[in-house]
This record gives sequence, C-alpha cells and structure tokens, in this order.
Amino acid sequence: MSQEWIPIHNTWRTDKPSEPPPTRLVDTYGRVVKNIRISVTDRCNFRCVYCMPEEMAFLDRSEVLTFEEITRIVGIVARMGVDKVRLTGGEPTVRRELPKLVRAIADMDGIDDLALTTNGVRLPELAKPLRDAGLQRLNVSLDSLDPATFAKLTRRDMLDEVLAGIDAALDAGFTPLKVNAVAMPDVVNELIAFAELARAKPIIVRFIEFMPLDGDGIWQRDQLLTREEIVSRIDAVYPLEPVDQRGSSPAERFRFKDGKGEIGVIASVTEPFCESCDRIRLTADGKIRTCLFSVTETDIMSPMRDGADDDQIAWMIADAVHHKERGHLINHVDFLKPQRNMSQIGG
Ligand code: SAM
Ligand code: SF4
Repeated sequence: MSQEWIPIHNTWRTDKPSEPPPTRLVDTYGRVVKNIRISVTDRCNFRCVYCMPEEMAFLDRSEVLTFEEITRIVGIVARMGVDKVRLTGGEPTVRRELPKLVRAIADMDGIDDLALTTNGVRLPELAKPLRDAGLQRLNVSLDSLDPATFAKLTRRDMLDEVLAGIDAALDAGFTPLKVNAVAMPDVVNELIAFAELARAKPIIVRFIEFMPLDGDGIWQRDQLLTREEIVSRIDAVYPLEPVDQRGSSPAERFRFKDGKGEIGVIASVTEPFCESCDRIRLTADGKIRTCLFSVTETDIMSPMRDGADDDQIAWMIADAVHHKERGHLINHVDFLKPQRNMSQIGG
C-alpha cells in the first residue's frame, strides 16, 4: 500500500558522518530511549474494531523489512543503549519463521529483554518454539470472555482458540502472563470476570484505555471506559491496593488486598505517561516513529537498501530521537489523529 501521504523525514546524506554515532539515545527533554517496538508485519488474522478496518490493503512483501534488516537495526540501536525489544504487528505470529527472528535477536549482545505481543491464536503451535528460541516475555490480547462480544470486537469467532493459546503460553513457561484487554464500553460488565481470571491463574490482566488509532474513526471521548471507572468497579468487589513500582512501564499496577493476584491499567488517554516514555517504534516498512501519535516518520529502510552504512543509519535514528515529541496531544485541541491506524504503526 502506498504511504506517500505521510511526511517522511529522510536525513540520510551520502557523505560519511565525521563523528561516531552517540552511545545513548537522548531526546531534547532528557528522556533516554531504551526500548524499541518492532512491527514484523502489518498483516493480521483478526480485524479488531479498535485497530483496523474490515477491508485493509496490506504492504507488498518487498516493502516489509527482512529478518536480516530487522536484526541489523536491532544491532545498531543496541550499540546506542537500547536493551529492550518487543516484537509486534499487525499480528507477529502470521510472519513465517518468527522463531528464527526471535533466536537471532535473543543471541545479540546488549538485548536484555525480548518480548512479543500477540492475539494468541497461533500460540498452541508457537508458544514452545518461541520460548525455546529465547523469547522471555509474552503479552496476549484478549478483549472479552464472552464469545459474542469477542466476535463483535475482533470480527472473528475465535475466543476458544485464544483461550487455548493462553494455556499454551502458560504451559510453555511464560508466567506471569500479561493479558491485555482494550477497555471498550462493551466489556464494562466483564470487568469482574477479568478480575477473577487474574485471581485464578498466573495472569496479570491489564486494561488499556481505547486510543484514537482505530481504522474506522469510531473513537469517541465520551464513550471511554476510563482507568477510574475500571479500578473503582473492580475494587468494589475485590478490594485493590496500588503496587508502588512503575518505572518506565505504562501500566499502573494494583494487587488484590487478599494477595490473590494483580491487575494493571494503561491509562494512555486520561493519564498519559509521556514524561517517562523510553521507547521508539519501527514499522514493518522500516520507518522510525518516536510516538504512537507521531505525524511524521523517519524512513531508514530506503537508505539501508541504497547502501547506507551502520553509522549513517545510527545518526538518522539519533536525529529522529532528538525530535521525539514531548507527549501526545489527545487531550488537546490541537490533536491530530495519525494517518496510520494501530496495525500499521505496530502497537
Ligand atoms: N496483534 C497483536 C495483538 O493484538 O496483541 C499485536 C499488535 S496490536 C496492534 C498490539 C496491542 O495494541 C494489542 O494489545 C491491542 O489490543 C492494542 N490496541 C490496538 N488498537 C488499540 C487502540 N486503538 N487503543 C488501545 N490499544 C489498542
Ligand atoms: Fe490484529 Fe492485534 Fe490489531 Fe487485533 S489488535 S486487529 S489482533 S493487530
């Protein structure tokens, strides 16, 4: 699919940079980038209403970074201090031979934390190979425990397959397992059922506030199920207390007062955590994004394919980080919805 309408920074100069690239990626607000989220494909076997439209034009295979290109970029950012990698998409498990990429990244110097976000459908066959390849952490998305609501939200009738995927992940040793639920208004009556899942299994359920990154323009502020409502409804049935340990994680953590498990809330809209954001994103078509809500991108795939060396790529990434946005403007009159929807950006 053509993405020409997105403003692209391309700071590549064919002359060699005179200085070696920086050893740390620091933005103008003093935040240090330690974390890269890499979209390995824009394709998906679901069509979640909050993420993509039913009809979607996907990138041609030639427009998608190869495993070798991804690994090369990870090496470049690792030399600039990035030590956490999360693979995502689209749906990362639809990319063929994903465990090979996991193995290549897991073996790289400097990467201490390698994680993957998935809708879970392919985990029955992939959880163990991914674990064996060196994947350390897994997040599974699950928006509803009710088959009809699940099918409405994902546009696929596959709740049982996802539940089987969650069990496969637990069996493969991914514990505690994080299960992410986008807090759509449809699930307000399921908050207690999700809390019970978090109490019954080694699972941390994390509710994510719905962000305006859907493909159909359905996001409406007045329909948000907010952090406040989520926490108060669960707390009324199963009392909660805050866990004092956030760091750069976007999730605010709460444990059940009786000691039986934990939930989290990612309040990206009502309580943004931009001040401690330490991440950048790499899209499947090789663009660096410094915020989910960036309205510009830095193309590093074209220069790589045109022969740029590692130092040149490193400087382009450092320059993009230098321009990292102070924060998103969802709650501001100047907010501009990004041109790409979540599945194209890499959530
Ligand atoms: N396909 C995988 C999955 O669903 O887990 C990985 C990609 S998905 C884009 C990554 C995460 O973004 C998922 O947890 C998904 O629920 C979340 N997400 C997608 N669209 C969102 C939106 N508009 N607001 C908040 N979270 C969203
Ligand atoms: Fe696919 Fe994940 Fe987006 Fe759902 S949230 S459509 S599973 S990429």
